[in-house]
Amino acid sequence: MKIEKWELAVILTLSIAAWFSTEARGQTLGAGFTEAGTPAVSGKVYQFAKIADGVYYATSNGPMAAGGNHPIIVNENDVLLVDDGTTPGAARALLEDLKLITNKPVRWVVNTHFHYDHTDGNSIFGPDVQIIGHEYVRKAILDDVLHREPFKTSVGNMANQAEALKKKIADEKDAAKRAALEAQLTAAQADLEQLRNIKPTPPNVTYSSKMTIYSGQREIQILFLGRGHTQGDTVVYLPKERVVCTGDLMESRLAYMGSGVFDEWVTTLDAVKELDFDAVLPGHGVPFHEKSLITAFQSYLKDFMRQGADLRKQGLSADQTAQKVDLTSHKADFPQIQGPGADLRGVRRLYEWMDERAGGK
Ligand SMILES: [Zn+2]
Repeated sequence: MKIEKWELAVILTLSIAAWFSTEARGQTLGAGFTEAGTPAVSGKVYQFAKIADGVYYATSNGPMAAGGNHPIIVNENDVLLVDDGTTPGAARALLEDLKLITNKPVRWVVNTHFHYDHTDGNSIFGPDVQIIGHEYVRKAILDDVLHREPFKTSVGNMANQAEALKKKIADEKDAAKRAALEAQLTAAQADLEQLRNIKPTPPNVTYSSKMTIYSGQREIQILFLGRGHTQGDTVVYLPKERVVCTGDLMESRLAYMGSGVFDEWVTTLDAVKELDFDAVLPGHGVPFHEKSLITAFQSYLKDFMRQGADLRKQGLSADQTAQKVDLTSHKADFPQIQGPGADLRGVRRLYEWMDERAGGK
């Protein structure tokens, strides 16, 4: 079954509008789907946009520590969930809201990669649920994942945000504004509490290059197309529905680069482009269909690698390069670029990666 062009156009137009309106606040889209009356169902925390028959895209705009977006595949008798959120609480909220769409049981969860915002709901599932990930994901989660990036800094940031909110509340004279800040603080503290509840739980089913799930009429391909965003990224591909779920290997915006394998990321994206699809459902951002956006991201990555290597040759440290690197020429494709500079964790990883390459890894 194909997605009708107009359906995708509606989803894209509305979601891109939502993206621009929410991106400035550093959030993913969500509310835009329902505000505009598109085929979406709104739960307490998650909204579900219909992409194809039985294929949904769940997004959240809070109040929980919302992580990535979730493609959800509802089959004749069961459900496959792509990624399961930042915390056990977020995953429970997702399952609760999912009842608005289906009462069929979740039988599979695919972890697209090891990052906490895609896997830390894993602990709520019993042994009857198969949590599938690339074999690297299991290894990474078992390797003291909470003391490594990106969890380490992200959780630190959340604690700092809560402290900053407390200060703002103390200084705020306007009662209505103070109430709004207090609500934000309550939500932030609840998020922090949830983060403390995390029990790193690795996939209980791993694979190395490809596995296929057949459920009723549905064929779901679980593909490792190469390293990129991390060393074990999974792409979930529905050949009949022509939908590809890319995790953070390809977002509609710039991805976190702190675990990147940069040169292979570019070639893995070539492999993604070779799939036959009408819609890309990314781990963050909005659905899209243009292969040109993938090419644009590849060009961003190449530029990042080239400039990083040049600046390092000039003797700049990773921290200095993070200030100096200038990727503003990619702003038209990635409007989140506001000026020169790049995420420090991405640049530190770039330096580490250059060392690995020099060492022949
Ligand atoms: Zn990620």
